[in-house]
Order: sequence, then C-alpha cells, then structure tokens
Amino acid sequence: MQPRKKRLLIADPNKEILHSIKQYKAAKEYQIEIAKTGSECLKKLKEFRPDLVIVDFMLPEIHGIEILRIIKDAPLMGKMGVIITSYHSMIQNYHAAVKLGVHFFLEKPFRLPHLFSLIALFFEGKLHPEPFEEKENHHKLQLPSYQDKKPSYLKFWGTRGSNPVSGPEYVRFGGNTCCLEIRHGDDLVIVDAGSGIRGLGQVLRDHPKKEFHILLSHTHWDHLLGFPFFYPIYQSDREINIWAPVGFEKNTKELFTDMLAYAYFPVGLEDIQSKIAFKDLREGQKLSFGSIHVETQYAFHPGATLCFRFTIGHQSFGYITDNEFLMNTHKLPSQLNRSVFLEPYQRFIDFFKGCDFIIHEAQYTPQEYAQRVGWGHSSITNASFFIKKAGIHDWIVVHHDPKHTDELLLQKSQLHQNIMEDFHHRCHIELAYDGMMIPL
Ligand SMILES: [Zn+2]
Ligand SMILES: [Zn+2]
Repeated sequence: MQPRKKRLLIADPNKEILHSIKQYKAAKEYQIEIAKTGSECLKKLKEFRPDLVIVDFMLPEIHGIEILRIIKDAPLMGKMGVIITSYHSMIQNYHAAVKLGVHFFLEKPFRLPHLFSLIALFFEGKLHPEPFEEKENHHKLQLPSYQDKKPSYLKFWGTRGSNPVSGPEYVRFGGNTCCLEIRHGDDLVIVDAGSGIRGLGQVLRDHPKKEFHILLSHTHWDHLLGFPFFYPIYQSDREINIWAPVGFEKNTKELFTDMLAYAYFPVGLEDIQSKIAFKDLREGQKLSFGSIHVETQYAFHPGATLCFRFTIGHQSFGYITDNEFLMNTHKLPSQLNRSVFLEPYQRFIDFFKGCDFIIHEAQYTPQEYAQRVGWGHSSITNASFFIKKAGIHDWIVVHHDPKHTDELLLQKSQLHQNIMEDFHHRCHIELAYDGMMIPL
C-alpha cells in the first residue's frame, strides 16, 4: 500500500500563483487544495485537514495572521504547519507571525523550487523562520531631486473681497484682500495690491530682480490697501511699475498721491525710496513680461475695471475678481439654460473661451444677490452660467464676501456643486484660500 500523500492547502488570491504551484513538477508528490479567500480557506482547513498551509499575508476577508492564529488555537489543527507569504515583508508582520509560531515567512515573489524546498524541509521537521532581513538603505543613491526646474506657479496672497477680515472663523480661507503672484521661472507679475501683498513683499525683500510689475484690475480699496505695506517700495534699488486702468476722474498717480496723503499715512508718494512708474492700462491691450503674456478685457463693475487673460507657455487662464455677470438676473439654472439675453456679455464670454482654468468671483448666494444688484458682483448662479458659456471645466472661486465665514464658505462650496449640476456642466470648482498655490 502506498503511503498517504502529504496534503498542502495553498491560500492565495492570485490565480496565476495558484495555477503555477499546482502545475509545478514537484507538486505531484503532494495532494493539493487551493483557496482564494479567507472563508474558503477556513472551510478547507476543516474538510481537507492539510498537513501544511501556505497562506498569503493579505488573503481577502481573513488575513494570513488570523488564519495562523485560528490554526494555532484549535486543538485538532495545532500540528498543521504554516508558511506565510507576503509582498510586504515588514518587521511588524514578521514578528506577529513568528510569535504565533509560523514555520516560515516567505517573501513574495518567490521561485517555485525555493517554495518546494521549504515544503520538503517542513516534512523533514527542519523548517524554521529565518531572521528578518532588513531592507537595504538607499540613501546613497543619486536620485533626481525634481528641483532643477525653475519655479512656475500661481500663489494667492489674498482671496477676500471688499475688506480684510480676521478672527477664529476665518482661519481656513483667510482674510486678506486680493493679491495674486504669478511666477514663471525668473518672470514675476503681481495682480492687485490688496492686504495680501504685504506678505508677498516680505518674501520679495531679497529677490534678485530689480523691476516688479503690479497690475491693478481697478482702484477700489480692497485691491489697493496693501500697497503702502509692500516692502520693496522702500528699497531704493527697485523699480515698481503700476499698471492700472484709465479712470474716470483722476489718473492713477493722483489717486496714489491722495491715498498716501500725510493725514492717512506717514510716508507720501514722493518719500517712497523705490522708483515708481504709473502706466495706463486699456481694454484690448496686450503686454508681455518675459514669458508671461497678458490681455485685458472690461469687467462689469462700477468704475473702470479690467480683468485679465494670462498665457504662459501652452497654458492660459483668466483672472476676474470683480464682475457682475447678468446684472439683475435672478433665474434658476434651468431657466437660464433655456433663454437669456446674452448680447451684452458675448464679447466677455468669447474673450475667455479656451482658457485652461478661470479664477472668477461668485460673491453672493442667489438670495444675497437679490439684495445687492448693482454692487458689481455676481451670484453663484450667474457666475456659473458664465463658466458654462465660456466652456470652462476648472474654476477657482475668489473674492469671498467678508461676511462669509469658513463655515459659510464650506456650505457655499456645496451650493456651487449643486448649481453647476443643475446647469448639467462638468466643472471642477475650488474655493481659493490665502496661501493657495497652483503649479503651472
Ligand atoms: Zn474687489
Ligand atoms: Zn471693486
């Protein structure tokens, strides 16, 4: 009579591994059963009564260590041998297995001759776990740092509209008014000089570039009030160019002279150490600051207000902080989808078509907008309609209302999603926050 073949149970979720083990020539000497899940493995432990179980550490449903514990705790199964296999041989896993009495902890991928030599050793009573092999430390390898490229990004230094805010309910989105840094290699453009520009000025103290450009969308306080606190204006070797739309009454230099009158601030425009040049911006103008190209367009906002389309390399994006799109329109997305008089806005829409993303305000909820028509800002619904009409699928919302606390802005973020869904327009929407950076 032939001696009973030794029984092996292989528990592994990988069909190829199971198949190759069964097909291997040395496998013929054994009676083999397989299991692909934990529950299957438990069932076969009881029915098949294997002499040796080879179980994967990450067996679905019941992991290898639990299978090992079940075997060791059951009086009738205690003598079964267990080999745990694992792609992730970490020291904690190894120790847990050894503590529970595993016969071997086998790192995957393994070679079949090696596996079957371990199986043979087990049946000779000579199989014991080997000491844990620490992974080689690769700290001496010369890996690329990914830092050779020059910086290229947008950074929001201020994302609040109207006036700065502070307090515990504003820590997430921040309270500084508008300021955007656009950096592409050695080229730098600053848009708006709201209170956020103070922090940027501190960073630029030691910047090697002598000449800076500040673009102002308009001269409302929230876009201007950080200027006297912009450190580089007190550095005598700097040249600061201020580009602003041609206003209705005073020119930009006169406005700045007024703003820096001694009654308001101890340093007048003529006392400023850096060289300041005021430059007129007009609608339709095209400017280039090294690799950063900009085009201008009127925004729908009280006074002379411009917004911008930037192109850097293959990317382009719009920056529109103050814009009352669809003035005095209070329709639902479904009603706007059907018909609306778009003629006055068509040039504006066309100007931003093809942008990779757009930074645009949506300062009011539809209910708030009903109370604030003519204040120069859009409802979420109307701003969303612009985004849809311009064919934009990536929208960063700026110019948050000072009344909107973190809590309210998070709720507003949900409202944005709901309204955009009602427009049946696919768009990723994110609310900007102070310090937000977007790699370009
Ligand atoms: Zn504003
Ligand atoms: Zn404004």
